[in-house]
Amino acid sequence: MKITFLGTNGWYDTGTGNTSCVLVETDACYIIFDAGSGFRKARDLVLPDKPVFLFISHLHLDHLIGLHTLPLFRFTQGIDIYAGPRENILLRGFLKRPFTSPPLLLKTKLRFHALDGNTRFPFEFEMRRLRHSVPCYGYRIGYQGRSVAYCTDTGECRNLARLARGADLLITECSMSPGDKSPKLFHLTPEAAARAARSSGAKRLALFHFDPQKYPGLGSRKRAEDVARKIFPNTVAANDGTEIV
Ligand SMILES: [Zn+2]
Ligand SMILES: [Zn+2]
Repeated sequence: MKITFLGTNGWYDTGTGNTSCVLVETDACYIIFDAGSGFRKARDLVLPDKPVFLFISHLHLDHLIGLHTLPLFRFTQGIDIYAGPRENILLRGFLKRPFTSPPLLLKTKLRFHALDGNTRFPFEFEMRRLRHSVPCYGYRIGYQGRSVAYCTDTGECRNLARLARGADLLITECSMSPGDKSPKLFHLTPEAAARAARSSGAKRLALFHFDPQKYPGLGSRKRAEDVARKIFPNTVAANDGTEIV
């Protein structure tokens, strides 16, 4: 499994990063988590040799806005797009005029699917609701003995720990600043992310979805990484372009 971070900002784009998108490549398929503005970069990284599964966590625009660039894509295999049952309906309502190009006009065929927890994939798959201001799902995939949990956007919650249990890699958000004690239940500080990794027995932690107001540059991300490492040493603060093999 090769993981490439295509967008690591939360909320909005800055010179430091695009918004949420993570590409996972296996020898059988491509798996993409979220379609923030970083999604545009997948156009040059995905070859026509394998199917593409796109999982949408929730409908905040920093996780969707990259779909507006689909007219640039020429994926002959198409894209299978998965979201929660209600989110699937709403997503289809968004991907049309006057918001953006309708799927019928695209060179890449889109196939929409509502996730119900029983959907079968050529990899192990698990989904659970996270703690966020709108319905939001975290995902866990497993392939050839390796597992990745993708959990954003979320506050501390039991399902975050469940999805991350023993995972080779936990990818989770770091919207809040180190030491932030405000009762923001829907996002994580680096300390809270590190605690989740430690308590769930995950082997590695990648922080992303940095709020650009709180993390204006790479230096502030590095400080979050240092804070998290005091609790969970095997932590990396991901940037756009970070690869984990
Ligand atoms: Zn977000
Ligand atoms: Zn959100």
